[in-house]
Amino acid sequence: MRGQFVRRGLRSPLRLPLVGLVGAVVVLVSLGWVTYRETVEQEVATSLVEHTYVVIQQLQKVPAGIAVAESSIRGYALRRDEGMLDEFDPAMREVDEALRASRDLLADNPTQRRRLELLEPKVARRLTLLHERLEAVKTAGDTAVAPEARHLTLEIRAMTSEMVQEELLLLDRRSFAREDRIRRLRVISPLGIFASISLVAVAFLLVYGEVRNRRRAERASEKQGARLRDLVRETALMLQMGELLSACRSVDEAIEVVGRLAPQFFVDESGAICILNESQNLLEAEVQWGSGSVLEGKTFAPDDCWALRRGKPHRSQQGEASVRCAHSTEGRAATLCLPLLAHGHVIGTLHVAEDGDADRIERRAMVVGEQVGMALSNLRLRETLRNQSIRDALTGLYNRRYTDETLEREIRRAERESSTIGVLVMDVDFFKKFNDSFGHQAGDHVLASIGSLLRKKTRGADVASRMGGEELALVMPSASLDAAAKRAEEIREAVSQMDVTHGGRSIGPVTLSIGVAAFPQHGATADDVIRVADAALYRAKREGRNRVTVAD
Ligand code: GH3
Ligand code: MG
Ligand code: MG
Repeated sequence: MRGQFVRRGLRSPLRLPLVGLVGAVVVLVSLGWVTYRETVEQEVATSLVEHTYVVIQQLQKVPAGIAVAESSIRGYALRRDEGMLDEFDPAMREVDEALRASRDLLADNPTQRRRLELLEPKVARRLTLLHERLEAVKTAGDTAVAPEARHLTLEIRAMTSEMVQEELLLLDRRSFAREDRIRRLRVISPLGIFASISLVAVAFLLVYGEVRNRRRAERASEKQGARLRDLVRETALMLQMGELLSACRSVDEAIEVVGRLAPQFFVDESGAICILNESQNLLEAEVQWGSGSVLEGKTFAPDDCWALRRGKPHRSQQGEASVRCAHSTEGRAATLCLPLLAHGHVIGTLHVAEDGDADRIERRAMVVGEQVGMALSNLRLRETLRNQSIRDALTGLYNRRYTDETLEREIRRAERESSTIGVLVMDVDFFKKFNDSFGHQAGDHVLASIGSLLRKKTRGADVASRMGGEELALVMPSASLDAAAKRAEEIREAVSQMDVTHGGRSIGPVTLSIGVAAFPQHGATADDVIRVADAALYRAKREGRNRVTVAD
């Protein structure tokens, strides 16, 4: 695993810059080496030049010394002046010394050394001849130069000249080679410097590009990470919302759940969820969140929202390019409206301020909208079905079956918790009279009015129901007999105060007779308690109606 990492690391885009840098270093080191070598060569060459000049100087001293010695003998022979011989000995010594010095200087050159070895005996012979001639001049006054001496002088001159030529030739060859190298160096140096600068520049550019790429990749992966975190959070929230919504029993409960969770989906954006009312003519904001409202008021007509008109998401933007919904807040930059649909029916709208990433907000809004729409519509459907089976259509009150079931359940609970249940049984007085005088519809209307009043007056766990005909009941869990009697009186009073009109005519006073009983005083079962309450009701009828009778 680790090995793989390393190999992949080497194959990475950093390999090329590395090659460039190594190349630049190699070129620079080679250039330095060549320059160093050339400096050393220069020093050697300089000393070689000096050496050659010294050799030439020494070699030239040999014929020159011989010539000086010869001419001093000739001068003496002509003038007989001893002073003329002053230069003879030093010249002879100089020839000797020059030969010795040449021997040392040419030690490393076999060709020249061989020539010198050939020259030496000739010079020695020539010096001997010079000595002999001086003696002869001194003693016999003989001035003639022996032919051998003349011949040797010419030979010596020729040989030293040859050796000097050889030295000059060597010097020439060496300096030519050096100049050649310097010429090449003159070309190579700038080329090398240019190449290494180029390599370094390319390496730098590659590294720079790579660093930039990596930074871009890092930024991209950071962004991706944030998006992923967002998505994970969103999914978790979505699951939570789905779970909670599926556990909801009513639309009201579901709206409460949505109200708590929707703001968490849109942490930075204000928003609202509106629900279409039963009459389908008004949308009311049930949930609102965020700092600034996205709606002008709390309610609006379906036609005020372009999303509802077109049946698809609509973006209200500031400016001429977009059509603004009549309900959207004036001055807000952009608002996204989304219809909440389920099974093809509109059940409400979702509105979110588009202050940030519009695509992200729209995607979320779609997901939230779909889930909320689906959940609300399922609940509404479930409520409708449930209502149809447990509610009475005319009064909107529960039906008898539901009341019986509820009372049974509440009795079992009251037994466990040792609490009481109040039960009211009510009957409309002289109800037949309304039917007879104003028609069956008027009778229905009276029942509906009483139903509406009872629904308003009953809250929480109380169950108001129509037991059949014009007979009604109210089950009050946790209520004592006294509390139930008090409620019965309130209801009787409220009904008697009702002003029921039908077809523009007042139907006249409506009154109720009410019998009150309670669990556990009046029975152990639902039937028993209701029977006792019924009995109390009939007592109330007998005693004159429009009254409350509490069972004994
Ligand atoms: P009481 O004070 O003794 O109760 O007199 P009442 O007239 O109310 O009693 P009764 O039981 O004689 O009459 C009940 C009438 O209610 C009979 C029936 O036609 C009528 N009724 C029952 N159900 C309905 C209903 O759903 N709609 C209408 N309009 N009338 C109903
Ligand atoms: Mg009646
Ligand atoms: Mg009746």
